[in-house]
Amino acid sequence: MALLSAATTQLKRRLGAAVRTDEKTRWEASFDSAKLSFLPAAVIRPRRIADVGAVLALANRHRVPVTVRGRGTSLTGSASPRHGGWVVDLTGLRRVRIDAEAGLAHVQAGATNAAVKAAAEAQGWFYPPDPSSREYCTIGGNIACNAGGMHGGKYGVTRDYVLALKGFLPTGEAVEWGTATKKFSAGFNLRDLWIGSEGLLGVVTEAVLKLIPLPPVRWTLLTAFPGETSALGAARALFARRIQPAICEFIDRFSVQCVERATGKSVFPGQAGRSVILIELAGSVNEIDDQKLEVLAWAQQYAAAFREARSRAEAEQLWAVRRQCSSAMYQLGDAKLNEDIVIPMRQYERFARFLDRLRRQSGLPIPTFGHLADGNLHVNILFHPDRPAESRAAERAVQCLMETVVAMGGAISGEHGIGLAKTPFLRLQHRPAQVRAMLAVKRALDPRGILNPGKMFEVFQIWKHPRVQVRLPWDTQ
Ligand SMILES: Cc1cc2nc3c(=O)[nH]c(=O)nc-3n(C[C@H](O)[C@H](O)[C@H](O)COP(=O)(O)OP(=O)(O)OC[C@H]3O[C@@H](n4cnc5c(N)ncnc54)[C@H](O)[C@@H]3O)c2cc1C
Repeated sequence: MALLSAATTQLKRRLGAAVRTDEKTRWEASFDSAKLSFLPAAVIRPRRIADVGAVLALANRHRVPVTVRGRGTSLTGSASPRHGGWVVDLTGLRRVRIDAEAGLAHVQAGATNAAVKAAAEAQGWFYPPDPSSREYCTIGGNIACNAGGMHGGKYGVTRDYVLALKGFLPTGEAVEWGTATKKFSAGFNLRDLWIGSEGLLGVVTEAVLKLIPLPPVRWTLLTAFPGETSALGAARALFARRIQPAICEFIDRFSVQCVERATGKSVFPGQAGRSVILIELAGSVNEIDDQKLEVLAWAQQYAAAFREARSRAEAEQLWAVRRQCSSAMYQLGDAKLNEDIVIPMRQYERFARFLDRLRRQSGLPIPTFGHLADGNLHVNILFHPDRPAESRAAERAVQCLMETVVAMGGAISGEHGIGLAKTPFLRLQHRPAQVRAMLAVKRALDPRGILNPGKMFEVFQIWKHPRVQVRLPWDTQ
């Protein structure tokens, strides 16, 4: 403790007002969207990139835990400072520059995903990774979690767009992985090792991102199905036709009913309470015209009903339904566990039947929606934490879900990562030798274990930890 406070004093001398120790700032940085709070000793808001290296060098010398933070939208607790120490908040470093000739974005880690998208689109380019939190979350956080979104099936995830990274090792030494070129095959690829490493292996301060031409035409179709099994079976038939929608979002009956109760409007007039799949094609006029005919023939064969959006405004209304799902679910419980699992396509119908059983056995509402082109489904388990029987049922339901997902050949997380919330399941997904290999990498790059300690490998029981009662700006999404 005395060492920590001496190190913090030394840091203040060096960085001045960039180091904050007031209670409000420390409390705000003590949790992320998982709302698990651990108070840091100080919050550092670097004004210059070199300050990040200085903080790390000092932390490494004095063995102070450091948790890097973007906007704190992580749903797994990965940005909360589990072992206290210092939080480095990078939201002040947010410059974005588009190289319109090469189709590249040069960005600082604290720029929001939405800012990069907007800057790219202003010059006719497209940055596809699109987490629903895009207005808030940072590119640094996206890289650390390998964030995805609705466009993942056709366009891929953050990893597919990162050409180069600049930043610091936990020792404070500056490094550059890759260059602003589309090819780079010189040495070990530590750029890809950093992507998805949840701030455990290094700190990203700048990135070069690849852009693609903005698709000129979009076409949206809403389809309704009697239930989950028929919808998921139909989706497999769509992909078997070699159709690659830009977006293919599934919303189950339970999520649809939540939205309908919240808005007082039918999602699909005449088809109230049915599962829906929302499809968007994107590309040139010719590409869209060909694929559209194929998709309409598919809808005719499989859907109970379908409706094309006649304008962009009407398409936006349809997408608004998908965006309302998350918040509309809170009518079913005070707490929501959003498990972003991944299921191989061949298991879709079997997984729908499993979820039916899980709902019956747990007695809990489990509305589900997600991205069908890549099997990344968001299984939402709703409960009231002040009712012990419901909390126990939710804990058992998560365990059963994770075991089933792994047994079906899927993944316990598609885009949110492990953080604290998924630590009990890391060893379900990975063999002991795999976990040992990951730990060996961690020790090699962070020999003093200062960067984001307590995450990923140390088992944490979220059930035993109280959650902060606070409403965040994005809780309405
Ligand atoms: C409403 C809502 C919707 C969401 N939708 C999606 C979605 O569709 N797809 C999706 O993938 N995720 C989604 N998320 C999760 C979250 O938004 C993403 O994981 C996002 O990438 C986190 O970015 P952030 O800036 O908030 O990072 P933070 O939450 O601040 O940090 C997340 C992790 O990244 C590390 N980190 C942050 N910046 C850096 C850096 N510069 N260098 C090294 N490590 C760093 C942190 O230490 C932490 O481990 C959603 C979250 C919410 C609340």
